[in-house]
Amino acid sequence: MSRVYNFSAGPAVLPEEVLKEAAEEMLDYKGTGMSVMEMSHRSKAFQEIIDTAEADIRELMNIPDNYKVLFLQGGASQQFAMIPMNLMKNGVVDYIVTGQWAKKAAAEAGKYGKVNILASSADKTFSYIPDCSDLPISEDADYVYICENNTIYGTKYKELPNTKGKTLVADISSCFLSEPVDVRKYGLLYGGVQKNVGPAGTVIVIIREDLITEDVLPGTPTMLQYKTHADAGSLYNTPPAYGIYICGKVFKWLKKQGGLAAMKELNEKKAKILYDYLDQSKLFKGTVVPKDRSLMNVPFVTGSDELDAKFVKEAKEAGFENLKGHRSVGGMRASIYNAMPIEGVEALVAFMKKFEEENL
Ligand SMILES: *Cc1c(COP(=O)(O)O)cnc(C)c1O
Repeated sequence: MSRVYNFSAGPAVLPEEVLKEAAEEMLDYKGTGMSVMEMSHRSKAFQEIIDTAEADIRELMNIPDNYKVLFLQGGASQQFAMIPMNLMKNGVVDYIVTGQWAKKAAAEAGKYGKVNILASSADKTFSYIPDCSDLPISEDADYVYICENNTIYGTKYKELPNTKGKTLVADISSCFLSEPVDVRKYGLLYGGVQKNVGPAGTVIVIIREDLITEDVLPGTPTMLQYKTHADAGSLYNTPPAYGIYICGKVFKWLKKQGGLAAMKELNEKKAKILYDYLDQSKLFKGTVVPKDRSLMNVPFVTGSDELDAKFVKEAKEAGFENLKGHRSVGGMRASIYNAMPIEGVEALVAFMKKFEEENL
């Protein structure tokens, strides 16, 4: 068996320890004689899995008691519709567009009401985060929406927008559990787990209780109402059971690493190795304004499409997978999520140095 260094933006690398444990439990989960994939979601064994997962993520993120944690399906993209369907009361919402995911979310919300784009960084290919300290927040806005870490472009909000008292809603898919967050600053935060937490198919929504109501847009399907899932402890219907089980293992792994403060320190160290090299390289350069750089997704280019393609090809041959940039931007992107070991980043930089020497 040989494992590669997987720099995929998602689905992405998971901790090896977690995968091994899951493999060991595949045929017989803790003496049940069956796999977690095969067991009833109403069983005692599964109830314990989901309860433990919830308790652990609450501890990791220090989630206050007046927030619910929901384990749902449909990926992050389903939230693009679920959020306006549940939270639009006045029919007016504010969005800040810092990339494709925020843009898609804004377009989806537009199906249900009036969407104001408060700010956008589309003018410079989303290579920065706009100043959000004094935005023209709509007086009757139901919420202000952001995508906190922009997976495709490699930017991250280092400071949350000043929403002037309005509810903040954030897509945290690609920075989920990468550093401590103050949950109280948000009304709702959510992430598809396949970037930094677990297998595709599960999305975790953390929502303040007062936002969970029956007062949703007319025609909102039962399955798309937060109240349905909150009232049923995420077991209204069959949940993404195996995904929740793996997320739970990742939460345990994160606790063992020292929690989110320790992860932040490690993630900063890893990102610095790559950014420091990019800043002095004569061949490669980062594409993001330094102050807005993501710790998770690091896009870079050589300036030549031909050299970019050569780099991606040779890197793959050397065991560095999925370094090609998103199809909408080209170039390269190294996603260095929690589970990417520091050795992987060091090895990548060593490889880049060698490539630079050979191709400059
Ligand atoms: C990947 C991604 C999405 C889309 O996730 P799906 O689960 O495929 O719907 C949305 N937002 C962000 C920030 C992402 O990185």
